[in-house]
Amino acid sequence: MPSKTEADLTRQRARLVDEIEVEVRETQKWIGRERLSPRVVAAMAKVPRHRFLAPGDVGYAYLNRPWTIGFGQTISQPYIVALMTELLDLEPDHRVLEIGTGSGYQTAVLAEIAFRVYSIETVETLAKCARTLLDELGYQTIYVRTGDGHEGWPELAPFDAVIVTAAAERVPPALVAQLGTGGRLVIPVGRVYESQTLVRAVKNDDGTLARENVLPVAFVPMVSKGEGPR
Ligand code: SAH
Repeated sequence: MPSKTEADLTRQRARLVDEIEVEVRETQKWIGRERLSPRVVAAMAKVPRHRFLAPGDVGYAYLNRPWTIGFGQTISQPYIVALMTELLDLEPDHRVLEIGTGSGYQTAVLAEIAFRVYSIETVETLAKCARTLLDELGYQTIYVRTGDGHEGWPELAPFDAVIVTAAAERVPPALVAQLGTGGRLVIPVGRVYESQTLVRAVKNDDGTLARENVLPVAFVPMVSKGEGPR
């Protein structure tokens, strides 16, 4: 594949954002939103997704598809990244907890909008690679640590929003506890290799969750340290 200039990549990224906006309109019945907010569009148009793929895979960066990043893990589909970000209803003063840093791409998109992003990744090498890349790209409001996302990051709670980018069989109670009142949680729920549902939930005043099912999705499983998928 011939090498691409930055200008080519920026153009491809703009086209991808157009495609995502079309897909959002086509799926509005499920997702309950007619369009992406300008903030989400701007973030998607800005983050250089090609930097989050292996150098040989740059040519695939602006296809609306998930892609492999090694360690049996994937970088999420751009439409899904945009949708999950949208469903969090982020404001510039919000603090967000992300579970499943992976490549760090979703993390960067969140950081374009929110005040602080705290991200937990279970695979240490992925956490380190993401940290290095995000530093290189100049993201100074992102904190990444290695750990089990089921436990969240209690010292830093409450969060305005929590996003989980690996599928859980049930919503981890610690993540609900660490969500502030009125906060949004977006998480794929379901078993591995079976149907999963993207769930959006808002925390009520009494601490319970108001849940809505958004869309069928396919995510890699959320694992516990030292265990296989559970
Ligand atoms: N958001 C990523 C895609 C994440 S793929 C991106 O945009 O590229 C899901 C990630 O969740 C994987 O990197 C996986 O290692 C991680 N993961 C799985 N179980 C986890 C857990 N219990 N705690 C934290 N991270 C976990």
